[in-house]
Amino acid sequence: MKLVTYRYAGRQSIGLVRENTVVDLSAVAPDMISLIELSHAGLEQVETYAATVTGGIPLAEVRLLAPIPTPRRNAMCVGKNYAEHTRESYEARGESAEAIEYPVIFTKTTTCINGPYDDIPFDAAVSEKIDYEAELAVIIGKRIKNADRDEALAAVFGYTVLNDITARDLQTAHKQFFKGKSLDGSCPMGPWIVTTAAIPDPYALRITCHVNGELRQDSANETMTFDIPTIIQHLSRGMTLLPGDIIATGTPSGVGFAMKPPVFLRPGDVVECAIEGIGAIRNRLAVAMAD
Ligand code: MG
Repeated sequence: MKLVTYRYAGRQSIGLVRENTVVDLSAVAPDMISLIELSHAGLEQVETYAATVTGGIPLAEVRLLAPIPTPRRNAMCVGKNYAEHTRESYEARGESAEAIEYPVIFTKTTTCINGPYDDIPFDAAVSEKIDYEAELAVIIGKRIKNADRDEALAAVFGYTVLNDITARDLQTAHKQFFKGKSLDGSCPMGPWIVTTAAIPDPYALRITCHVNGELRQDSANETMTFDIPTIIQHLSRGMTLLPGDIIATGTPSGVGFAMKPPVFLRPGDVVECAIEGIGAIRNRLAVAMAD
């Protein structure tokens, strides 16, 4: 099941993507978080309702937003979760590699969530070292705390594509990742949430990132250091996770700052992050500075 948040005819709704159309789901829930909170019963309602609808709005005519355009709280992210990316990051910073015992966790503000095809703002006075990170994001489906492995897996509602856009200079300057990861528009995601039933093996999905059509990242030969249930277990230890929480699971190697010499995104560059079996998001670094 592919679930979207979209704007059409001046209204924002959630919908089910069926072939090349969107079936409006306003009758089931007012927004994505409300739908997620309905859990399995909500997905059953979606199926029952969609069966009564013939046709739909052509997908090409709606404006897709991030599936969860206004999360309740920050998106949670795992850093250094692919060994080759971890190696390239240490090397690019001239640091010696250290063993990673626990997942590196940071967050991105709710105000940096961006649509799947929207421009990423650029302001050279803020940062000229804007970089991409294609990632598989997990959407949490239920309230959990101190989850064991089975509970962690059962808490996953679905998956989406996320670009963890990073201002590398700010990431380094402020020591903690938060600021450099949270500039406005620096979290494009979508184009939809694919529910877990359609993704039996999330690790088999190839993640790629192209910049202006040039392949930069490809997870084909890389695997996650901490798998999805392990990440959820760590996060939920003593800390409640909520329906609609977003967890980005880390990026494979090939980021711009680790290239020799480093290459950063320039205004007008188009970044496409794709995950096999889910879809692709495509965002341009804005040419003109936005407000
Ligand atoms: Mg990342």
